[in-house]
Amino acid sequence: MESAPSSSRGLSLPTKILLGLLFGAAIGVTLNVMYAPPLGGEKTEEWKTLEGIADGVVKPFGDLFLSMLFMVVVPIVFSSLFLGVAGLGSVQKLGSLGGRTLLWFLVTTTAAVLLGIFLVTVIAPGKAVSPEVAAQIKAQYLGDAQARIQQGAQAKGWIQMLVDIVPRNVVGAAADNGKVLGLIFFALVLGAAAIRLPAERTRVLRELLEGIYELCVRVLGWVMQLAPYGVACLIFHATAKLGIDVMKLVGVYFLTAMGGLVFYQLVVITLLAKVFAGIAPGRFYRGCRTLIVTAFSTSSSNATMPTTIRTATDEFGVPKEIAGFVMPLGATMNMNGTALFEGVSILFLAQVYGQDLSLATQAMVVGMAVLTAIGAAGVPGGSLPLLAVVLAQIQVPPELLALILGVDRLVDMTRTIPNVTSDLVCSLWLARREGHVLKA
Ligand code: ASP
Repeated sequence: MESAPSSSRGLSLPTKILLGLLFGAAIGVTLNVMYAPPLGGEKTEEWKTLEGIADGVVKPFGDLFLSMLFMVVVPIVFSSLFLGVAGLGSVQKLGSLGGRTLLWFLVTTTAAVLLGIFLVTVIAPGKAVSPEVAAQIKAQYLGDAQARIQQGAQAKGWIQMLVDIVPRNVVGAAADNGKVLGLIFFALVLGAAAIRLPAERTRVLRELLEGIYELCVRVLGWVMQLAPYGVACLIFHATAKLGIDVMKLVGVYFLTAMGGLVFYQLVVITLLAKVFAGIAPGRFYRGCRTLIVTAFSTSSSNATMPTTIRTATDEFGVPKEIAGFVMPLGATMNMNGTALFEGVSILFLAQVYGQDLSLATQAMVVGMAVLTAIGAAGVPGGSLPLLAVVLAQIQVPPELLALILGVDRLVDMTRTIPNVTSDLVCSLWLARREGHVLKA
């Protein structure tokens, strides 16, 4: 983390991670430009070798880093949430903190969707894609799109998703990556119960969980020492296999989505941090360097969640009980970048399909994009299956998803940044409201 001691060569960990990112990206992009076949073209021998190395050697190392981050997620979610809730001391306080947190999630997510829809309506990137180009890209990425559609078909209805928040088997929920909400619910309920019991009855359990939490944070510190290498591997793999040809073909969409995300992060999130937490932009981004690079390289709010907690507590002085409450919920439910991306992508694909959406349908899209952003798993590409579901619901063929898949990795990496920084600012706001002095 930022506060990690400088290495013998004098470089701080965030700087090393950033160098890892630049190094991985530079090599990945260079090899991509040199060897990637044109869209629909034959793969050369060099490209096949490169793909083999990227998939068979570099990716497993990147995945190892990701797995090490994921490894501490379940114990951190459970211990931090339980201790967070139990530490609040009263059920009323839990209610007001929970209410404000959900309000933050809902308002910022809706604002992000509206910004996405506004941009895509004004810029109309769908009009820039001719039917021939659309067919060409679709042919290339159809298989991938169909896999997402199938995953989406297995997604439960909205009501069932709500019902599933309550786990029948909490061990099963913890073991299933897609069911973090079940674990969260259990930890919340136990924490609330602990508030009601005499402190003496839960003292041992709290000490045990505090120990587990501290251990996981220590392990996370070790894992982050490997981040410069892990990040380099992840970025190399992502950039070497980026569809640069497709990026040009759907360039207006790509720029709309990326521009919207960058604007949301740099303007909206920065302003929120200033207005609601009193943190100046320079200070905010200095404290967030490692967080941003981790979110960007892992493309996963869940994998980044332990780092988000550490950033809030160590860098900005948010009390553990608030960070421990907000971050697990936020990593699962609050995805501003994903919401913006959904708004842009749904309307873009409707434009390509030549479907003019009525105002009522657009309002429905806002609602569905918000729900989808809440329901999407905080893993790479977690929102894509649900995006396929929404497309089908507004009568746009979900196979058109193929048009955006070639560039989605980069968009995914970028949208994960506001996904996590919005959680961070929410915790800063709540801590300040509770009268805590932040490290501004
Ligand atoms: N990768 C995003 C996240 O983990 C989810 C998504 O938009 O696909 O936050």
